[in-house]
Amino acid sequence: MGAKYSNKINKIRTFALVLVFAGIVIMYLGLLFLQTSQIMMTLFMLLGFLAIIASTVVYFWIGMLSSKTVQVQCPNCEKYTKMLGRVDACMYCSEPLTLDKSLEGKEFDEKYNQKKLKEEK
Ligand SMILES: [Zn+2]
Repeated sequence: MGAKYSNKINKIRTFALVLVFAGIVIMYLGLLFLQTSQIMMTLFMLLGFLAIIASTVVYFWIGMLSSKTVQVQCPNCEKYTKMLGRVDACMYCSEPLTLDKSLEGKEFDEKYNQKKLKEEK
């Protein structure tokens, strides 16, 4: 791929997925202590469980964020992608996208999203 920027929603979704797998792996490691250490097993199981709970929270967060996204057609690959904030990257080709005409052609910078706070009343 080698894409420099990735879509925010995709990034968060990847993070949630990593948490689920981490949780499963940690819980599995806990099983290795089944015969030897009850405390270690409980600790690993608890950690793994927490990771899975955390991923559920992240998935809920994605659901909430999705209501704030704007659907736009990517000028590069012509697919419909979801944007979060004033600048975001296409979900499919990672083309930098902006909703703000004044930012068009400028170098992609996630900092532009923070400007939004000042302008909103
Ligand atoms: Zn695209």
